[in-house]
Amino acid sequence: MHQCRTCLGQTPDGHFCVRCGAPLARAQALTHARHRREFAAAPDERRYAPWLVSTLFPRLPRHSERHFYGALLGGAGGVAVLAALRLFPVALIVAAGVMPCVTILYFRDIDVYEGEPAWALGWTVGWGALAGIGVGLLAKVLAPTGSALIDRGSTAHVVTGGLLLPALGVLLALVGPLVLLRYRKFDDVLDGACFGAASAAALAGAEAIVVGIDVLGGGLRPPGAAAPWVERLLGLSLAYPVLAMAAVGAAQAAVWLRSRGRAVDRRALGPAGEPAIALALALLLVVAGAVGETFMASGTWLASLVTLDLIALVVLRRALHVGLMQEADERELGPEAECVNCGAMTVTHTFCGDCGVSLRALSKAALRSGRTRLIESVCALATVVAIGVVVGTLGTGSEPKASCTSGSLCGNPPVFSRVAFAFPGDTVWASTGLGYSLRYPNAGWKVANSDPDDVTLESIDGSVLVVNALRSSKSTPAELIKVKLSRLRGQLLGFTRDTNAADQLLGTDVGLVPGPGVVYVGTISTPQGPQETVNVVVLAATAGGISIAVTLITADSLGGQSPLANQADDIIDAIDFPAR
Ligand SMILES: [Zn+2]
Ligand SMILES: [Zn+2]
Repeated sequence: MHQCRTCLGQTPDGHFCVRCGAPLARAQALTHARHRREFAAAPDERRYAPWLVSTLFPRLPRHSERHFYGALLGGAGGVAVLAALRLFPVALIVAAGVMPCVTILYFRDIDVYEGEPAWALGWTVGWGALAGIGVGLLAKVLAPTGSALIDRGSTAHVVTGGLLLPALGVLLALVGPLVLLRYRKFDDVLDGACFGAASAAALAGAEAIVVGIDVLGGGLRPPGAAAPWVERLLGLSLAYPVLAMAAVGAAQAAVWLRSRGRAVDRRALGPAGEPAIALALALLLVVAGAVGETFMASGTWLASLVTLDLIALVVLRRALHVGLMQEADERELGPEAECVNCGAMTVTHTFCGDCGVSLRALSKAALRSGRTRLIESVCALATVVAIGVVVGTLGTGSEPKASCTSGSLCGNPPVFSRVAFAFPGDTVWASTGLGYSLRYPNAGWKVANSDPDDVTLESIDGSVLVVNALRSSKSTPAELIKVKLSRLRGQLLGFTRDTNAADQLLGTDVGLVPGPGVVYVGTISTPQGPQETVNVVVLAATAGGISIAVTLITADSLGGQSPLANQADDIIDAIDFPAR
């Protein structure tokens, strides 16, 4: 027994003061034990080292962390393999389920004997899931349509998807757990942070599934390039949820510290402990993560998310550390007991004298064996995969059959090829720059924007037909198509050639002038997740001194039965090149 130089209390011989947690071997006394280098919830890690599991799941003893790393890596690996096999709908469900699933395992693990917070878990995860469904439905209502489909810089993508919806998500994830602030048994900063993180994880998962519901209907193995999908779904399964969890957890920790902490400790976090500032920081981190999706390639975005993850984890870790290193109680030393973290016998007070863990960070639960936990993780992940397979399979519509025998887009042959006048119910649009014209049916189509050379038409169901023209001396049809495809590649996820037999073109022309044509497929991706797979047809032809490229983007099928494809085909066939 000797005197600790930091808190001046009596503590048994060991590595750490059991009252304040200060390391006893240090030559100089700390001004406050919270300045020690060891993280209070995991003393063998540095205070500000952004380790994932000890920060997001701080109540775990160190030796069981590897099971959680295993579960997270297993989940992410599974997502990557499923996406690489192009089983996108299954991979999407698994990606959305990994983090909520591991969070539930964590809650179950730390409370298996006490059993008390089953309802607290139910409330936070249930609230998060419901809020996620709500935000997801809102995202679908506000989803980009028309020409915004292929413009990731549009307001619908950047302001709505990158800013408003993520901010709403953060606020909702924070509000739900506030109910638990009333209960004395949840008065630790750790509790607040965990509830906030759990609610954020459930919210992100539920939101991604609701937003991606149309991807689930596109067949078990829809077309698409695998590599961008792998990157996008790794972001969806781990990188984005971790960011949301850490940011919301840190903001929630500040709220808890402010309302449940002891008066002396309320200022220990500095400005970051001010709930308004903590909330602003959480919003900034999450919005910065989300908005990046609207202008970065999937791989770059994943890297930017990981960077933000590290920052958010450090912020959360700091809050947890300060919360756990609150002033020592003025109570007597208790009897010796085994430390759940390191297994050594320690006098019970506030910290373990041997490893220095805050005893408040440990669940009082007796630990289950690693084998039990491993079996549980495997079962939980298998369940998520099974749900993904079932939903992915059920969602598979029957593949459309190729039903056309002639015509460019499987449409009906046009009645007139060269149209100089409007049919009743049709509107003529004429290029003042290059002298070509086209007509489109008023019912169902409108001009979204136009300039002297180009025009963008939008259909009532959100499909887009873009007509671009150039003097034929400037570009051949093949070059026009190439330029068009390279622009679209940056706008759609997994953009690749469509090999679906039903979508193939049987002879391609523009205004009945033959020319090259291609069918591609890609997925509209928003910060909330992959949203909908669209078909892209690009046709081009040269006549009368100009080259025209027509791009049709539609979520509808291109088969002969599709009224949209027929209408688009009529518009394309009726394009009137200038007379020489
Ligand atoms: Zn001390
Ligand atoms: Zn210990």
